[in-house]
This record gives sequence, structure tokens and C-alpha cells, in this order.
Amino acid sequence: MGEYDALSGLSQKACETVYSPLSADGNGQGCGHNLLGAASFGAAVAIKRAIEAGELHGTVIFYGCPGEEGCAGKAFMARDGMFRELDAALTWHPGDTNEITVGSTAANMQIEYAFKGVSAHAASNPYDGRSALDAAELMHIGVNFLKEHIKPKESVHYSFSDAGGISPNVVQPAAKLIYMLRSDTVINAKKLLTRINNIAKGAALMTDTEVTITQLDGTADMLSNKVLECVLYDNLSAVGLPSYTEEELSFAKALKETYNCETLPGLQTYDIPDLKEFVIEKTENGTKPVNDFVFPYYTSDAFSPGSTDVGDVSRLTPTAQFTAVTWPSGSPGHSWQNVSCGKSSIAYKGMLLAAKVMAGACADLMENPEKLARARAEFEKTAADGYDCPIEKGVVPRAQKL
Ligand SMILES: [Zn+2]
Repeated sequence: MGEYDALSGLSQKACETVYSPLSADGNGQGCGHNLLGAASFGAAVAIKRAIEAGELHGTVIFYGCPGEEGCAGKAFMARDGMFRELDAALTWHPGDTNEITVGSTAANMQIEYAFKGVSAHAASNPYDGRSALDAAELMHIGVNFLKEHIKPKESVHYSFSDAGGISPNVVQPAAKLIYMLRSDTVINAKKLLTRINNIAKGAALMTDTEVTITQLDGTADMLSNKVLECVLYDNLSAVGLPSYTEEELSFAKALKETYNCETLPGLQTYDIPDLKEFVIEKTENGTKPVNDFVFPYYTSDAFSPGSTDVGDVSRLTPTAQFTAVTWPSGSPGHSWQNVSCGKSSIAYKGMLLAAKVMAGACADLMENPEKLARARAEFEKTAADGYDCPIEKGVVPRAQKL
């Protein structure tokens, strides 16, 4: 699977070590999806050629997955029937470590709350007005109180996507909020949504306004597949990591000096004491500019509070993913630093590494059907509950400026 979408507000000139937008309010590849899509496509092409040459037998499909950031493209594709026919799905993500991605992620849902009131002169006849902005503010306050009473793996984020206009002397007749809620499972996310919807209805009742509730998208929680993770790890270990020139390392070092990073690299470094020691040694306590090693594979059911639309795929077919080094150690997610590094030779080396690992893993699975069978057997157990798509029927992907 390949992603290729960018992020708003992250325009940045390539290979610069200072913040330097290419265009005002422009978009940028702050999550490295330019590399993500290209490496996955490269792997698919390599496998296709091997099949055509008679070296491998099977079918490879490259899924172009649009709108991962804020639109959950794969979840829409999953809802509408894709991925079910597969023996396995593989993907990767750019990052600052060469590491198999393990554990679960949060399910999420994005919902828009549009309040409709009545406009009026804010001084002359405010009593004739019904403020949609008041309703939005009251909803926001209500949800903030709710936050104390949600489960530890749940979180709620929001934005005022329309505060009604810039004129304070108007009773605002329209206002919109977007909420993103997360929970450990889709079922729990839906329960949390009901509570938030009730707050929205309460805010409308308090202000004598109307609220229209519209789902924008959602993603399921990730189901890991340890058999496939091992196949990816074997290939990541076998393929050989890139080496870096002095010039590349000094660029990475200069970029690293532009952000604070107090955590050691790796997803669950702190959960596993042996791994923490290994990482401290390999990274020289987090000071090395580029993490030029493979993280040991460890099985973990750890929960990551973020979400990914790969989760929806993982509920339909055995799925695994990994990260490859494309930017300096500790580089913040969704940052201008990532955009700057996204066209560097460091990034291209990571992209090629990822393509080789995915192609190798795919060939491995085609040549060893017993591995696919074991992956399937694991999936049949872990996915026994079936797929509960968090996106309701009828919800269409929104056109979004990113
Ligand atoms: Zn991403």
C-alpha cells in the first residue's frame, strides 16, 4: 500500500537546515508520504517483473491510498469492499528508525458539528438573535468536562473550523466544530461518540439553535500479525542498511540541532528494559544524528495513542508494517524538518531500503506458502470479531485542502 498526501502549512524548501517555506500557506510532505508511495510502488514493480520472468508465482497489487492524513482513505476503501481478497498486505512508513511496527493503535472518528442560529445586531437587538457561536463554545466547554470521565486509552481533539465570522457586532448565525475522538476499539469509539453527540444536542438546546452532526471519517484500531512482522524483520535484517557520507551526516546533525528531542528513538523503547539499553548504546544516548541500525524485533501488544487507516486493512487481511530511516533521529512528526529532509539522499536511501524490504518480504511469502498459512491462521484468531467499519454507510470522503 502506498500513500502520497501532504500536510497543510508545511511548505519548506528541500535540504535546508533553517525554516524556509517554498510558498506562503503551502503544503509540504511533513510525514514523508512522497517516499511512502514511491517505495511501495517500487516494491510492487519489482515483484511484477519477477512474476513476469517466471521467478515468482502469484499476484501483486499496488493500492494507491489517497488522503491518509485527516481523510482515512484506506478506511473508505475497506468499507467499500477492498482488501478482502488478499492473502496479506504490507506497508511501511518513513521515520527515524529501522524498525518493525508492533502493537495496536487507537480507533478514531472525525465528526463535524454545524450549529445554526439567527443573526441579529449584537447591541441593538441581541434578544432576537440565537448565537451559533455560543452553542459551539458551550459544546467545547461540555466536552472539556467530559474529558475527565473518559477511559485512559481515549482522547478527544477539536478545532473551531468556523467561528461564525470576524464581526463581533453580529450575533453569529452559523458556527462549526470538528471533533476527533479516539478509543481502543471501534465499539468504544462509537460509545464515546454518543456521549459527545449528546453534549452537542445539549448545547443546541441551551442556545435555542440547531445542530447538524455529520461524520467525516474514521479508522479502526490496528491488529498486528506477528508472523508477517517476523517476515518483514528477517528481510529488514538481511537486506543491508545504507551507509551515510560525511556530508549527509553533517546535514542531519545541523537539522537535529533545530529541534528538541528528549526521548530515545523507537516506538516502545521505554517499555522493554533490554531494548532501552541496546538503544542507548547504539544511539550514543540519542545523540547520533542518524539511527544506522536495525531495532531488534520484539513482540508487543503495546498500545499507541495515535491512529492509522492501515488499521482498517489489518481487520480484513493479515497486515504488517515497518519504518525505515528517512530523516534524522528524533525529527518531529509533521514538521518542516521532515519536509526539508524528504528530498535528501538520506531519504532516498531509506526509500530504496523500504522498497527492497517489502519486495523481499513479498517474494518470501510467495515462495513459502506455509508462512502465509501461518499468518492467516493467526489472523483468523485475532480477527474473529470481524470488521466493524467506523465510517457509516453514505459518508463520502470530503474534498479537503491539505
Ligand atoms: Zn504518515
